Amino acid sequence: MAVFLTRGGAPWTPAYLLSIDQTKCIGCGRCFKVCSRAVMSLKGVTEDDELVDADPDGDDDEEFLRKVMVVADAGNCIGCGACARVCPKGCQKHGEA
Ligand code: SF4
Ligand code: SF4
Repeated sequence: MAVFLTRGGAPWTPAYLLSIDQTKCIGCGRCFKVCSRAVMSLKGVTEDDELVDADPDGDDDEEFLRKVMVVADAGNCIGCGACARVCPKGCQKHGEA
């Protein structure tokens, strides 16, 4: 396990985004907006239960049954934890690997 440090030299343990519980996610997009690393992607759930790309600004809400956030590129995550701070549903799981 690599050892990370803050700018001030204190130990830092990244909290990487591991998963999002789609049964709890309300697709509000808050996590997406605070993430600078293109880790997540907002999807719309169709009547056929398929996930298709959705508009994070909400202009296509009526096209879907609901929206959910998915982990699109986990490898981009730097473990800053910002997404967890803004999630109102506590549906994200973070960890070291
Ligand atoms: S922990 Fe940071 S980098 Fe990773 S998905 Fe959340 S906001 Fe983006
Ligand atoms: S902030 Fe939470 S509830 Fe909102 S889209 Fe992200 S994971 Fe889903």
